[in-house]
Amino acid sequence: MGIFTAKPLSYKDIFDEAMALRRTLEIPDNMAFPVLRFIEHVIPLIFPEFNFKIVKNHELPDSYASTNPLHGVLSVREEVYVGATRDSPRDRFTIAHELGHLILHGPESIVFHRKENMESIKAYENPEWQANVFAAALLMPPDNVINMTVEEIQQTYKVSKTAAEFHLKNVKKQYGEKM
Ligand SMILES: [Zn+2]
Repeated sequence: MGIFTAKPLSYKDIFDEAMALRRTLEIPDNMAFPVLRFIEHVIPLIFPEFNFKIVKNHELPDSYASTNPLHGVLSVREEVYVGATRDSPRDRFTIAHELGHLILHGPESIVFHRKENMESIKAYENPEWQANVFAAALLMPPDNVINMTVEEIQQTYKVSKTAAEFHLKNVKKQYGEKM
């Protein structure tokens, strides 16, 4: 059995990528990222083959959503889609995580290893870690959250308390180590 790793990316690399996307889309730093609007109205303009699928639970039995960056397919369970239309923090994060795969994990960045086991993967080359860091930075722009409280982050960016706390801790650590 083999595993996939991604081209190694640091926190700073991923933060920069997420912030660049927000700036390109001209999303104000204090605005919650419109995950569904981006998927339904923006990606198709720049990526005509992009295929966004809303599926039944049994079609995605093991996860809430999944992405195939190679074929430009993003599938989410119906319940996640509906949750996101209602600004559910968890569902917004799930979709932002998939956007991380779509944006960071194109064909050149993913490597298949035949032998290695999970323990030998470093966090920085783990695609799941990278997608989580991307999701957090896209939803909560690091430059802004550094000066906010957890409660302000939750309200401004429509994220969960857990996600806000975890991200704020990481951002402070990164900025403390001269970013
Ligand atoms: Zn993932």
